[in-house]
Amino acid sequence: MKVIPIQQAAAPVTAADPACRPAPGEALLDRRGRSVRDLRISVTDRCNFRCVYCMPREVFGEDYAFLPRRELLSFEEITRVARLFVARGVRKIRITGGEPLLRKDVDRLIGMLAALDGVEITLTTNGVLLPKLARRLRDAGLHRVTVSLDALDDALFRRMNDADYPVAKVLEGIEAAKIAGLGPIKVNMVVKRGTNDADIEPMAAHFRHSGHILRFIEFMDVGASNGWKMDEVLPSREVIDRIDRLFPLEPIDPNYEGEVAERWRYRDGSGEIGVISSVTQAFCSTCTRIRLSTEGKLYTCLFAQQGHDLRTLLRGDAADDAIDAAIAGVWLAREDRYSEIRTADTAALRKIEMSYIGG
Ligand code: SAM
Ligand code: SF4
Ligand code: SF4
Repeated sequence: MKVIPIQQAAAPVTAADPACRPAPGEALLDRRGRSVRDLRISVTDRCNFRCVYCMPREVFGEDYAFLPRRELLSFEEITRVARLFVARGVRKIRITGGEPLLRKDVDRLIGMLAALDGVEITLTTNGVLLPKLARRLRDAGLHRVTVSLDALDDALFRRMNDADYPVAKVLEGIEAAKIAGLGPIKVNMVVKRGTNDADIEPMAAHFRHSGHILRFIEFMDVGASNGWKMDEVLPSREVIDRIDRLFPLEPIDPNYEGEVAERWRYRDGSGEIGVISSVTQAFCSTCTRIRLSTEGKLYTCLFAQQGHDLRTLLRGDAADDAIDAAIAGVWLAREDRYSEIRTADTAALRKIEMSYIGG
């Protein structure tokens, strides 16, 4: 029996009322006064890992129905949407997935997006394909890369990615990205209490002096398949306290307003770390992110239950103005603040999967 993915639900888009839509080129503000600055684009729902907190094998097994090729937005369709978002104030585009480096010729997409004016292009990856692709991505115009790595202990890491990839493969990927000039590299570690929290200090020790920025992410209740429990969330405050005991830390200012990671640096000058505390310290009030799914739906929150279908417009004969009106309609109606209102009940809702929307 095929598993039917949750991503099939979609709300139609309602174009912004012309009387309310700011003129083209003017910023959009949602119902909480937030502008749209970051666009995250998922380019595939497939992955070569089966991380236990993201694509557990019991759900994402051999019978899982991934999106067929024709359902995926083409690079031209993605770039068209991105260009309209840039005209509305987006300054940062992140390519994600699934594993984005599995999308064939993803460097061609990077090149097309990098040609848009005034926008930084970044990508999040599990890193194992970077030795092969880092140089090509850099040459295409990618600015920076974030690599996920949840443990240094090899046996534990293999269990967490559940595809038997060793730590060494990811470290090679990080090194390749550095050599290609994709730094400073951010390294993301999702912390699950009782699973990999013993690796917090070894990870900190390993990445001090490296020039890479290690970031600890609280385990989140994204999707409906990772069996999230509050008991398994290790608050970022504890991460900071534990590292501070070994390597004294001090807080530093955000790089820009609305930055998601709280920044800290080692007092001895050996580097910087960050914590992303979406469970224990919600940052919805400054959330400027929107997500475009692999098959062309817009999601205004990582914890959304429904997206807004843009692909029908893109594949019809809609003019740019009609697509801009649709984008404006979605953003102007946005009220999301899931992390501020999270409870055990909301955690059990059937939300979109992280591997589909890309984090
Ligand atoms: N495959 C790429 C990777 O792993 O970097 C990109 C996609 S992945 C969905 C993006 C980020 O989301 C990764 O850093 C991953 O660790 C994080 N992530 C996935 N599931 C999560 C969860 N339940 N809680 C917190 N972070 C999660
Ligand atoms: Fe794949 Fe990234 Fe999800 Fe791990 S976190 S299963 S690497 S998409
Ligand atoms: Fe943004 Fe939704 Fe996360 Fe809040 S819960 S920070 S609105 S994505």
